[in-house]
Parts: sequence; C-alpha cells; structure tokens
Amino acid sequence: MTLASHTPYTTAKGQLSCDLVVVGAGVVGLWIARLARQAGLETLVLEKRSPGAGASGGLLGALMPHMPERWNPKKQFQFEALACLGDEVRKLEDETGMTCGYRRCGRLLPLVKPHHRGLSEERSAQVQTVWHTAESGFMWRLVDAPFTDGWPDAASMPHGLVHETLAARISPRRYLEALRASAADTLIEREGFQRLDAATGAVVTGAGRTIAAGHTIIAAGVESFTLLGAMLSRPSSQLGSAVKGQAALLQADIGDDLPLIFTDGLYVVPHEDGKVAVGSTSETRFADESNTDAQLEALIDSAGTMCPRLRDAPVLERWAGVRPKAVGRDPMIGAVPGHRNATVATGGFKITFGIAHKMAACALEVALDGRCDALPESFRIETHLQKAGLHPG
Ligand SMILES: Cc1cc2nc3c(=O)[nH]c(=O)nc-3n(C[C@H](O)[C@H](O)[C@H](O)COP(=O)(O)OP(=O)(O)OC[C@H]3O[C@@H](n4cnc5c(N)ncnc54)[C@H](O)[C@@H]3O)c2cc1C
Repeated sequence: MTLASHTPYTTAKGQLSCDLVVVGAGVVGLWIARLARQAGLETLVLEKRSPGAGASGGLLGALMPHMPERWNPKKQFQFEALACLGDEVRKLEDETGMTCGYRRCGRLLPLVKPHHRGLSEERSAQVQTVWHTAESGFMWRLVDAPFTDGWPDAASMPHGLVHETLAARISPRRYLEALRASAADTLIEREGFQRLDAATGAVVTGAGRTIAAGHTIIAAGVESFTLLGAMLSRPSSQLGSAVKGQAALLQADIGDDLPLIFTDGLYVVPHEDGKVAVGSTSETRFADESNTDAQLEALIDSAGTMCPRLRDAPVLERWAGVRPKAVGRDPMIGAVPGHRNATVATGGFKITFGIAHKMAACALEVALDGRCDALPESFRIETHLQKAGLHPG
C-alpha cells in the first residue's frame, strides 16, 4: 500500500482521496479506523446506515473465553485478545472521556449433568497451563454453592458450578459510541460502499461518488460476504452466512458486580445501572432478521428460572440481529484474491466483541504489509476459500 501521507480528503478536482477506506462502522470497522488513525493514515469510514446498525448495536456484550481443551492458535488469539482488552478499553475511555461499561466480571457455568463435573475438573487442570494462571491470576474453580444466594438458583446447578475469572462484559452500545467518538471525523454515514472501480481501484459509493483510496478494508459484518462474493464472482453463500440472534434487556437491581452466567446457550449478563442482558437465540433459518418472537420469551423465562431475582423483571428492550459466520466458522481476514488494494475482516460470529481490536490490528497489518504472521491459519481468507472448495486464485 502506498501512503498518501496526509493528503487532503478533497483533491483539486473535488474528488475524495485518502489512504484507507474502511467499509462498515461496526465494532470491527471502527477499531480498524481507530488503529489506522493512530498509525497516521488518512482514513474514511463508509457506513451505509449508521454506526451500530449491524450486529454490534446489540445488548449482550459477553466476553467469554473458549474452553481450555484442544488448545489451538485460534483459542490463543482469543485469550491474548481478552487478556489485553481491559487496558485497551481504559485507553479509549481516557481519550474520549466516555465509559464503556467494561468489567472483568468472571463467569459462572452451572454443571447440569453428572459428567460435567469430571469434565470441569479436567478443564481446571488445563486452564493452569493455557491461561498461565501463575502469572495471569485467571482461575477456573469448582464450587458447590451458588456464587451468592440465587445466583444462580441451587436447583439449576445439581452437580456444582464452575467460577472462572477471565470472562468479562462490556456495554456494546457505549463501547461503540466511544469507538465512534475516537474516529469521529473519519465517518461518512448513510453512504455505502458499492464496488471497487476495476480500472483504477477507486471506491465507488452507493451515491455514485468515487473515492481514490490507497486501500479498502471490508468490515461490513454479514454483508461482507455479499461484497466479497461480487469481487470474487461467487455467490455469497459460498463465503459465509448470517446467524440470527435475539436478546433482551431487563431492569433488575441485582448489583452490577456479579459474574455473568452461561449454560446451554443461555447467557445472563449483569450490566451497570441495574440492567441485565439475556440472550441469545441462534437461528440459521429466519424470515425477518430484526423481529423478536416466542423464542426470546422462552429465554427470558429460562433466565427467571435460573436466576429467581430476574423473575418478573421488566423488559426494557427486545432486540435481534445477525452475526457474521464465515464459511470456515472462524473469523475471516486477508487480502481479497485478485484485488491488491482490498482486504476483508469479518466473521467474528459469536466472539467478535472480545477480539475486534486484534482482528483490526491484523487486518491493518495485512493492508500495510501484505501479511500478518499473528493471524491463525484458520482465520486466513485462503483457508476459508479452500474449505469452501474454492481456489484462492
Ligand atoms: C443476539 C446477539 C447477541 C450477541 N452477543 C454477543 C456477545 O455477547 N459477545 C460477542 O462477542 N458477540 C456477540 N454477538 C455477535 C456480535 O454482535 C457480532 O459478531 C459483531 O457485532 C459483528 O461486528 P462487525 O463489525 O463484524 O459487523 P456489524 O456490527 O454487523 O457491522 C457491519 C456494519 O457494516 C455496515 N455495512 C454493511 N454493508 C455496507 C456497505 N455496502 N457499505 C457501508 N457499510 C455497510 C452495516 O450497516 C453495519 O453497520 C451477538 C450477536 C447477536 C445477534
């Protein structure tokens, strides 16, 4: 990538010009913009709706580590990301004067079936090594009583409870607001990326404008697959899919320092100001990506059974969105084959909030240097394309 080193955004002919165009103002795109600015790149973020209009504008904000068994580069990548996120958020808060509702609250995992106990004991030993407990202090311990009365209800943990201390939570919307503030003057809202001009590599927007960009990073969440499909002349379904999720925000003054709880697809995440998020459905077939339905009501009921303090708590908001799931299931990052000035960063699926800062750093490194050695093999776009039976080209 050739740096235009602080060229003005508008050329003498009135055309926009910059080093980097980022497509999409979700958590990944805004992190890329933040890091690009820090690196001194003239950056523009194109957002076809508004920041947070995609999956990042949700309610849950659980930052949960992978299980410690069968440790691999993907799990290591996420571990490192979760371990440093608190510091990154603090820097963002100091810089913007805003708060993101981050807390390393830990996580409770009720043990529902007899074999969960033995499995959790094994995991307790594995964690010592892969989470570097001696240095990091992150622990995984088995306990026989609820964390505190009714959190969770004793009946929901017949074989005990795991309490691990690496998991955290963040307020998705406040985090996004702070990221947006840190990248404010780079953002163009309600004007989407349409395509790259084949001859010049310039960005053509939905409004018909062209932007002379040194490089373009596609971070458009689920819609990245459509954009990428058009660039590779492939159907988007070969590159990734949308998995719908529904969540709710309850009002329940339970204390915002309690650990989040996760069991069998049900998340209960205490946030600040007496708010508790409950989620999430995981739907591969759906008619409407933004409506909520009886599946969410069932989750709210289950949360009330597991945590009696949430029974009858008023529901402040119900929300649904679609998560980007790449064909290889892991995040998809890399130079778009056949397009020397384009990179993609998407597919964070259910763990994006914990790793977006590292996904962004890798995507930027690919854009600037053509490679990123820190990228796990399974995240590379070439790996995804091979899994889909497509030749990377
Ligand atoms: C119910 C639910 C609960 C979840 N809970 C968690 C959780 O607890 N923890 C966690 O880590 N993750 C969670 N996720 C997943 C997480 O929200 C997503 O993986 C993440 O937000 C994806 O971020 P993104 O930046 O890749 O995409 P998005 O946030 O979807 O952002 C993409 C942006 O690109 C814009 N865009 C699209 N096309 C164009 C275009 N052509 N031009 C310009 N802009 C465009 C969109 O408008 C959008 O704003 C949850 C998801 C759901 C649905």
